[in-house]
Amino acid sequence: MKTILITGCNRGIGFGLVKHLCENYGQMENIFATCRNPQNAQELTSLAQNNSNVKILKTDLNNSEDISNLAKTVTDILGTRGLDVLVNNAGISSKFTRLPMVKEKDLTDHFRVNVIAPILLAKHLIPVLKNGKNEGESSGIIVNISSVLGSIQENTTGGYYPYRTSKAAINAATRSMSLDLREHKIVAVALHPGWIKTDMGGKQAPFTVEEASGNLINFIRNISMEHNGLFLTHEGKQLPW
Ligand code: NDP
Repeated sequence: MKTILITGCNRGIGFGLVKHLCENYGQMENIFATCRNPQNAQELTSLAQNNSNVKILKTDLNNSEDISNLAKTVTDILGTRGLDVLVNNAGISSKFTRLPMVKEKDLTDHFRVNVIAPILLAKHLIPVLKNGKNEGESSGIIVNISSVLGSIQENTTGGYYPYRTSKAAINAATRSMSLDLREHKIVAVALHPGWIKTDMGGKQAPFTVEEASGNLINFIRNISMEHNGLFLTHEGKQLPW
């Protein structure tokens, strides 16, 4: 793995992944790190100042023009070199909601960031993903960061309509990507990262961002065709849809 694009890198898991790569994988050629407000992303900016392979790309994933511009910029920079890994990490999650409290805007906001943006980004990046290189036979890898809350079978407590439905939808999209892109040896997986201490995961989560980032990068580096189309934890355990 030499080139990677990660969305939502100013904080949380996205920032942790970029930091872990900088600290442990100096040989990376390109770490494309998106965030929507680089001017407020001091820690990420400082990482980029100290690591010339980190390129911050301003992208609001609510904006489809931003998404296509991002893909164009990355494609122009890479030229004939491939994109090895795309991590659709950025996501939103509102508070727990029972059905009477569900708001239409909340549903559409979640679908925009958690489903539409990852699908459009993967679509625009197919040409560079085709030229990616990874373990074994596979070319590029698409990692859609999902959640166990998107598992229909594991849902025993209800609620979380915007988040659960959007993560179930990105799971469905992941399976389609795995089938549509198989002929190009592009692998697509839906990955539950674990419960992690971030703004979204909260303080009670068992894993720190640092621990989780190391685990996730180890896992991503070992993804191969055998994982194509699966819904997995970072330990490689298969989750029910
Ligand atoms: P955080 O809330 O800490 O960070 C979310 C990131 O997504 C931020 O960088 C945020 O940027 C970005 N983002 C949100 N909306 C947009 C947008 N419209 N355009 C661009 N960027 C956007 O979340 P986590 O790091 O915890 O979560 C990362 C992923 O992991 C998500 O997909 C989440 O669903 C998943 N996940 C997390 C778990 C956990 O326990 N933490 C458990 C299971 C899954 P900004 O600062 O600009 O808002």
